[in-house]
Amino acid sequence: MSERRGLMERLAEGPVICAEGYLFELERRGYLQAGAFVPEVVLDHPEVVAQLHREFLRAGSDVVEAFTYYGHREKLRLIGKEDKLEPLQKNALALAHAAAAEFPEQAPLVAGNICNTNVFQPGDAASAREVRGMFDEQIAWAAEAGVDFVIAETLEFDGEARIALEAIRASGLPAVVMLAVHKPGVLRDEVAVDESCRRLEAEGAAVVGLNCARGPATMGELLDAIRKAVKCPVAALPVPYRTTPETPTFQSLRDPHCASLPPEGPFPTALDPFTCNRYELADFARSAVERGVHYLGVCCGGAPHHVRAMAEALGRRPAASAYSPDMSKHYALGDDPTLKAINREYADDL
Ligand SMILES: [Zn+2]
Repeated sequence: MSERRGLMERLAEGPVICAEGYLFELERRGYLQAGAFVPEVVLDHPEVVAQLHREFLRAGSDVVEAFTYYGHREKLRLIGKEDKLEPLQKNALALAHAAAAEFPEQAPLVAGNICNTNVFQPGDAASAREVRGMFDEQIAWAAEAGVDFVIAETLEFDGEARIALEAIRASGLPAVVMLAVHKPGVLRDEVAVDESCRRLEAEGAAVVGLNCARGPATMGELLDAIRKAVKCPVAALPVPYRTTPETPTFQSLRDPHCASLPPEGPFPTALDPFTCNRYELADFARSAVERGVHYLGVCCGGAPHHVRAMAEALGRRPAASAYSPDMSKHYALGDDPTLKAINREYADDL
């Protein structure tokens, strides 16, 4: 492990991929409840989290992010389980380290995570103190576990993002700070996204950028503005959904084709028909790199096939590429000379 290069060294050499999307993937698999979205799975079914870490690493993720997202004090208070906070955090960090250790040749980085607390209120000093306390306790556990860096993500307020950064900087660990930008196109405290990223860079963030909320099609302009505003590496982790200028976030997508949607709409449990395919994520990875974005990944809704396609788009061949598609041997669509003509001639009738 002594030869492991840190985040900044890797970014200096080329793009870094960080797979995310644990919350949605484990919800789909039946291990996590939509609504409060608390990752109790880390304690209740740790083997399932370990397996998803493995799948993302095989798909080409350079980073194992500890699954502490929404496992913070406010979320555990909400479900009446604040006593589980520390074991949940520590187990998530241990699972991330254990997964990384299974891939010594890849030597993946291990990241801690903090996120929107849902208690922040602009201009309210008491809420700022509460937020800082929540971040500090999580970062202390992450530092104690020996993470390589800390990701602060899905931050909707410039104010909260800067508290997150300050808390990570106090630990001495590198900080990746990512903002989630909703329909208005600015942060919830009305700070422009590029301005917020400029401040975050000035205050010591190693990487700044965007994750969650927006799909590949509605993140580009904001990424360009951020790229112009900062010199540090820029992050882009869209949700893999087909967002549009009218519905730029996955929360705002509407589905006129489904008569049995729950009252809240497609988000968060009926987004399936909007899901981007692997080729669209590969396109996103290429276009993001052209834009000068070098910290890449996929957020809520992402699955290993998306990550593998992104890695391959960057010219890599992760372990899971051993099973990348080879349609030449498909019984009807393939062109292998040993395939039966009767089936190949039927291809147009499939
Ligand atoms: Zn997300």
